[in-house]
Amino acid sequence: MSKTLFEKIMDGEIPAEFVHQDEHCIAIKDINPTAPLHLLVIPRKPMPRLCDAVPEDQALLGHLLLVANQVAADAGYGEAFRLVINNGAAAGQSVFHLHLHVIAGRPLKWPPG
Ligand code: AMP
Repeated sequence: MSKTLFEKIMDGEIPAEFVHQDEHCIAIKDINPTAPLHLLVIPRKPMPRLCDAVPEDQALLGHLLLVANQVAADAGYGEAFRLVINNGAAAGQSVFHLHLHVIAGRPLKWPPG
């Protein structure tokens, strides 16, 4: 299987600005930010979509949320940020390696477009 874009970033084959790394995940700055803060929290396990998660992924998925909390707080946005997971192309997913968007720093409308 060929590597996903995010695996190539984890392996140093494509540059990215890292804000967090641990044994389970990384967090990087989005290359095309939609807000003053736009980070991606990405599991090292290359699960294509959230709907591909299995019960064994429960702890990993919880970890990703806690890391999202942490990177938002580290950037000064711990009190007001949005998490987005696009699941499937019709929902806007373009990179098929699960990732959480952490977005903050401007008014965020609801419902999202
Ligand atoms: P999605 O559309 O939910 O799959 O999100 C993919 C995200 O990856 C988009 O917000 C892109 O801007 C971002 N992205 C694509 N290539 C890179 C890259 N090389 N480094 C950082 N972010 C990227």
